[in-house]
Amino acid sequence: MAGKKIGVLAMQGAFLEHQQALSRCGAEPFLVRTASDLESAQGLIIPGGESTTIGKLMKLFGLDTLITERVKQGMPVWGTCAGMILLAKEIADSEQPRLGLMDIKVKRNAYGRQVESFETDLDIVGIGKTRGVFIRAPYVEEVWGEAKILSTYLGKIIMVQQGNNMLGTAFHPELTSELDVHQYFIDMA
Ligand code: GLN
Repeated sequence: MAGKKIGVLAMQGAFLEHQQALSRCGAEPFLVRTASDLESAQGLIIPGGESTTIGKLMKLFGLDTLITERVKQGMPVWGTCAGMILLAKEIADSEQPRLGLMDIKVKRNAYGRQVESFETDLDIVGIGKTRGVFIRAPYVEEVWGEAKILSTYLGKIIMVQQGNNMLGTAFHPELTSELDVHQYFIDMA
């Protein structure tokens, strides 16, 4: 069976690492920069980076409304870090552009200065133990409606799922050697 065609939004940020992790899982990843790129995607990853920049570029390329439509029709989407910020309906103290698809409120750059970046063991519902890298990471302050908590770290929500097609992680699995979160997402697609 051919691997699933998973798009990785390549406006800015850590998209190449996702592409590599997806290839290692046997999927067929490709970069998404235009509306026509998105057409063949069976799933889409929105990578980490700078959420304000990615949000502006998505709008500029007309991808924001298209992605929103596809996700509402059921296409799986996974946002890591800045990607999760873009999926959130609410962003604390920010009016920045977003897709606003998930019933979550996120706080950007939520870990204090001294721990801006760190790597740690995590335990995830439906996946089990894995590693995660946090880089100027957000956490989820609130979930409501259809959003479910899949993992917390030190009392803060760091992974959420909504229905069977939306996933958000505050951390970067693509910057570790673990493939289990990528595999979980591929199985959703
Ligand atoms: N701090 C970034 C933002 O708010 C997210 C960081 C990341 O994606 N690693 O957009």
